[in-house]
Amino acid sequence: MVHSIADSRVGAQTSAYLDDTYLEQVDTRVIAVGERDGTPWAAVEHCVFHPQGGGQPADRGWLGDAEVVPVRDRESGLVVATAAEGGGLPDLAVGEWVRARIDLRERMLHAALHTAGHLVEAVGRSQGWEMVGSIHFPGQARIEFRAPHTDARLGDPDGREEATAVLRAAVARAVADDLPVSARYLPDGRRVVHLDTLHSAPCGGTHVRSLGDLADVVLPTLKVKKGRVRVSYTATHRSR
Ligand SMILES: [Zn+2]
Repeated sequence: MVHSIADSRVGAQTSAYLDDTYLEQVDTRVIAVGERDGTPWAAVEHCVFHPQGGGQPADRGWLGDAEVVPVRDRESGLVVATAAEGGGLPDLAVGEWVRARIDLRERMLHAALHTAGHLVEAVGRSQGWEMVGSIHFPGQARIEFRAPHTDARLGDPDGREEATAVLRAAVARAVADDLPVSARYLPDGRRVVHLDTLHSAPCGGTHVRSLGDLADVVLPTLKVKKGRVRVSYTATHRSR
């Protein structure tokens, strides 16, 4: 009997969402099934689902016709697709083929917001600020920095407007230059995302292909709260 390559790989999960942000669906095999707190789940070999993490929300997805919420299972390390609230999963057995699919439009928005977050981080760091927090959720995306006390601009409204204008100009320049976005793996397995030579950071999120994919990047005037510089932002994905 001849085993196919695919046969020999059952049991391992590949993070397809890390290789291709725009992969909308894939026919793949179930590698594990189970239950979490009474909710059924299934894990598939080629995982197109990004679970919530790193400041990026979980994808909306489907296994067959059933809506699922992807979650990282701490014990196994697998991304498992749990039944959406009030729903169920098709009756799946290990080894069975199933179609895994994401809401691509929502994924593209998440990737745009996430990548714009890296860009805001980069231009903030270029001001001599240190990033202390980030969130890339739609409607609440922001990067927080600790700035040196010597940055006198942050102490009054005109100065904060001036500092924001510097950030906006740097962001607009990087988007106009369409800087390439890439991810590489270090020998220890860590994944590092690069915005050309402008910025690099360890990251397990989904990104756009180049900064020209970003549209409507808007930075309201930054705020200073409890000694932290808060740079909120919005962004969308350029239509393709
Ligand atoms: Zn990232």
